[in-house]
Amino acid sequence: MTNEQSAIRTTYFSIIGNTGLALVKGLAGFFGNSYALIADAIESTTDIFSSLLVLFGLTYAKKPADDNHPYGHGKIEPLVTFLVVAFLVTSATVIAYESIENIRTPHKVPKP
Ligand SMILES: [Zn+2]
Repeated sequence: MTNEQSAIRTTYFSIIGNTGLALVKGLAGFFGNSYALIADAIESTTDIFSSLLVLFGLTYAKKPADDNHPYGHGKIEPLVTFLVVAFLVTSATVIAYESIENIRTPHKVPKP
C-alpha cells in the first residue's frame, strides 16, 4: 500500500469514527440537555468536514496531468491545507463564542 492509499484509508476511518461520535454525542447532548456534549458533537462534525476536504484533496492530487493542468494536480494540497486550517479556526472561534454565550445567558439569577 502506498502512503497515499494509507492516508486515504485513515481519512475514511476518521470520517466513519467521527460520524458515529457526532451522532452519539449529539443525541446524548440533545436529550440530556448538555451543551458540553453538543459542543463535542459539533467538534466531531467539523472533523468530518475537514476529513472530507482532505479526502477531496488527496483524490484530486492523484489525478494525472491534463490539458488544463499540464503539471498535474499536486498543487491543490497546499490549498486544501489552507482551507482545512481556515475552517478549523473558524469553527473553534464559533464554539468558543457559543460556550461563552452559553455560560453567560442560561442561568437565571436568583431573586434577592
Ligand atoms: Zn485538471
